[in-house]
Amino acid sequence: MTQQEQQEQQESKLFFSRHLLEWYHQQKRDLPWRRHRNPYYIWVSEIMLQQTRVDTVIPYFHRFIERFPTVEALADAPEEDVLKCWEGLGYYSRARNLQHAARQVKEQYGGNVPNDRDAVFSLKGVGPYTAGAILSIAFNRPEPAVDGNVMRVLSRYFLMEDDIAKGPTRIKMERLAAELIPEGSASHFNQALMELGALVCTPKSPRCLTCPVMEHCAGRLAGCETSLPVKTKAKPPRPEERLAALIEGRGAHAGRVLIRQRPMSGLLARMWELPHWPAPPAEGAAPGARLADAAAQDRLRRSLVKAGISARPSEHWMAAEHTFSHIIWTLQVYRCREEEGLPLPMPLAAEGLAVYRAEAAAAVTAYSLEGASANGAGTASSDIGEAGMTPSRGADLESVLLTDSIVPLEVEVFADGTENPEDMGAVRWINREDMARYAFPNVFLKLLNSYFDVQEGRKE
Ligand code: SF4
Repeated sequence: MTQQEQQEQQESKLFFSRHLLEWYHQQKRDLPWRRHRNPYYIWVSEIMLQQTRVDTVIPYFHRFIERFPTVEALADAPEEDVLKCWEGLGYYSRARNLQHAARQVKEQYGGNVPNDRDAVFSLKGVGPYTAGAILSIAFNRPEPAVDGNVMRVLSRYFLMEDDIAKGPTRIKMERLAAELIPEGSASHFNQALMELGALVCTPKSPRCLTCPVMEHCAGRLAGCETSLPVKTKAKPPRPEERLAALIEGRGAHAGRVLIRQRPMSGLLARMWELPHWPAPPAEGAAPGARLADAAAQDRLRRSLVKAGISARPSEHWMAAEHTFSHIIWTLQVYRCREEEGLPLPMPLAAEGLAVYRAEAAAAVTAYSLEGASANGAGTASSDIGEAGMTPSRGADLESVLLTDSIVPLEVEVFADGTENPEDMGAVRWINREDMARYAFPNVFLKLLNSYFDVQEGRKE
């Protein structure tokens, strides 16, 4: 780069910082987490804002801070309460990590969010962007906070054609963003950069005519603002067909439906849901093709039996989707009837897999199939009691029950990896009021609300 080019770039950087800051002071939105310099509030807001729009976050932020006003309150709360407060916001590992990190802050820093780069980085769920945001916004430290929005603005303004999906580009952007921070103004400057990306330099239609830095924007001057930033496409989420059971209780469980708790770790860990299982397409069918109704009911019936749930599918109720970053579940939901005379224990305890396994292992020796009914319902004795559902019994049991035979079976003991961990969680019979006590992923929250609305005559 020639000396003149270097000088021009320096001027361009100074212009950017000065005009952006002036614009921010006049135009910034009044957001609840901007009314204080409370590092805990800023931290919570930054975690909530990941992958989520500001409008969506605001009511969640208010509720969360009201329920957990301090780091200690969050650290000491039951995880179930934290997940309930996060319910509907998605990416639930954010909530779990936040609580884990609050415990770190309570134990290691006396409940005060640390003002130190290494310490902030060591908190669970805090990456370079969030660390930069906390340190700069709350403590005014000159740390860059570079996310996708900021990379878009910088790519356009400085006409950078580096692929922002690549790690080295982020590092380059962080270096550039750090250089741009005016002395003593890290807090406002970083927020200004984020605000410009959110309000003006938007992904599809940047509002260049109202942009405070348009005059020196190299991307705009070259007419390529809409083709920047360069970003290689992420792999699209993989579709997965699943069959879900909306099991309506009878007798003692009338008016209730069965929910189960997800495994202790992994996707949507420890949240509650309707039981559901993968439904691979029939042989020869296109991947992702929906199973025919009879085949779907048959498969669902098998899955219920295998999971030790005494229920029979009756009709297709509705389809629903749940999208994760890497996978899309399409759930075909079937109404199922609890089998008469074969009640599941209620209420069942919500202990985790470890407790379940210990109790189930002790009980499994007494387990037998004697008395299995001729219509295929397992009477797997519930001497497992409050620990959870009846144990997985393997493919042999599945075929025996479905051919109406009654044959004594060897019971599979819980060899790791042989059972579906999703079939091992606790279950509950719940009515509408009980929903307030459990945290559900959005899709199940909607399904359950829909179901109870219909039952209560609020909806056709
Ligand atoms: S002029 Fe347009 S492209 Fe350049 S920073 Fe402003 S909004 Fe973005």
